[in-house]
Amino acid sequence: MSKAHRGRPLKEETPGSGRGNCPLCKRSGIKLLYEYEVDEKKLVICKQCNSAVKAGKFKEAIAAL
Ligand SMILES: [Zn+2]
Repeated sequence: MSKAHRGRPLKEETPGSGRGNCPLCKRSGIKLLYEYEVDEKKLVICKQCNSAVKAGKFKEAIAAL
């Protein structure tokens, strides 16, 4: 498996190296590397939010989306 979240594969496979605005932390120009599915919605979130979600945070933010 290649490292899909960094380096050359990321640049080749994702436009703009996967950068965008994270829907949870609202940071801009951050790499959105993690897909997170909730209630049939697919969110693409940043690394920080991915770990935060795993830790049980952002539940209200996700429900409000
Ligand atoms: Zn984020």
